[in-house]
Amino acid sequence: MYTQTAMSSHKRDHNEMTQQSETNLEINAKTIDINKSDNNKKESKNKPKKSNTGSNQKEETPKFTEEENYFLNRIKTQIKPVLDDFEEYGLVLDTIYVVDILAQMANKHIKTLSQIISDEFTSEFNHLKKIKKKPSPIVDDKEKEKEKEKEKEKEKEKEKEKEDNSENNDGDKNEKKNSKKTKKPPSASQAGNILQLLICGESRFKNLKVILERVEYDKELNDIKFIGDSDDIEYQSLSNEQKGIIKFIKSNDFIISIENVPKYPPLLYEIWEDWNYNIWPCVYRAHIFSTPLISNVKNETLLEMRKYMLLAIEQAEIGKNRGHKGIGAVLIDPDSNRIVATSYDQTNKISVDKTPEILETQYLSPVVSHCIMTIMNKLSIEQVTDIKRRMKEQNDKEEKEKEEEEKVENENKTCNDEECNILSFVNLGQYLATNFHLYITKEPCVMCSMALVHSRVKRVVYGSSSRDGGLGTYLKIHTEKSLNHRFEVYKDFMNDECKKLFDSPDAS
Ligand SMILES: [Zn+2]
Repeated sequence: MYTQTAMSSHKRDHNEMTQQSETNLEINAKTIDINKSDNNKKESKNKPKKSNTGSNQKEETPKFTEEENYFLNRIKTQIKPVLDDFEEYGLVLDTIYVVDILAQMANKHIKTLSQIISDEFTSEFNHLKKIKKKPSPIVDDKEKEKEKEKEKEKEKEKEKEKEDNSENNDGDKNEKKNSKKTKKPPSASQAGNILQLLICGESRFKNLKVILERVEYDKELNDIKFIGDSDDIEYQSLSNEQKGIIKFIKSNDFIISIENVPKYPPLLYEIWEDWNYNIWPCVYRAHIFSTPLISNVKNETLLEMRKYMLLAIEQAEIGKNRGHKGIGAVLIDPDSNRIVATSYDQTNKISVDKTPEILETQYLSPVVSHCIMTIMNKLSIEQVTDIKRRMKEQNDKEEKEKEEEEKVENENKTCNDEECNILSFVNLGQYLATNFHLYITKEPCVMCSMALVHSRVKRVVYGSSSRDGGLGTYLKIHTEKSLNHRFEVYKDFMNDECKKLFDSPDAS
């Protein structure tokens, strides 16, 4: 019951958020904090304007000391958000087949192709616009000028021809028009009139180029034929879409070429700008990252983060001096900047028996007294103590009231024992680490990463990666779709300072 209520409330929150971002891509459904992330498009557009007005710069630059500026410069090159796989794949390019077409024929070809290709095919590169203007070949400026002059002369000639034609018969007109069409082989000077049409991804039709060499188009039958053996297995195994594509290419005498294009929609405005103009026209939709990018984190916040990480390092040193692994953590309530709990790894059994931290790990075996476990254990003890105190206060009040009124019987029926009262208190507000930020010197192990999911923590910032860590290195538990809670994770924050404190590369 303790966890169920909290889980259901979280699910509700998550559903609400996914409804808001319904129009966006699938991936947006798994983002956590809509308010946290900014619109990249707006940001990048506004950035230069803001710096001109000086509203940001004037405040920021004189504000920080030399040491702070040094720290900010250093930290920004190190700290990284641990994003989910889709967000990382947002930079992958894929291979597609394209054909050159004449601009005036574009609509006709697109229509034909859309009738051939099924939805399954078309959805593959849906974020790309079907057509791209073919880049004109690189030529010297002088040559360009010459070409322009030639084009102008040609246009003049055409105009003259038109004037002449208007005086002639209709029959002559048609003949001349037809001859023009057939006389249009793609040349460098006409490159502007040639477009590239996206056929399909290479992964969907791997041997298209090879098959095309073995196929002929029969004009009379308006169909394609395999050269040689008509019972060819390769031909028979082709789907209707694939046969349609071959027919489309062969009947138009197209020559297939290959282009590299973005496999997934670009997630950043800057990347979209680059891809859209330099690679292939594509669609941009503002994306909300599972962990805000560092460019969206304020300098003030980074300096605050540093303070907390220094506290975590202090904890790690205390633990190390007591014979433990040298991993420390601090839990913060970001709304009030209150330090909620501090702790360190306590897995050394002998040390635990000798020192006062036995009080903190009274419910934990040293085997599982990893840093996250001890801090969560400490937090839960503190919360229960606090709840009990609040309960006493309320009970005292109620008892006074009860003496005056006789309502005791009814209340006893609904809620009897102490545990039930604790639950009702918990449900009113905080559940373990809801909305808290955790700073830890080393990437947690898989067990501790799962404990963080259960704790409902909002953000984790860790120093050094572990080779079997659960938040970025071995697994990315915080982005796991199948779990009912996700949180933000930053890695490599003050990595150098944190690394010094332990020897083992393994997670703890
Ligand atoms: Zn652990």
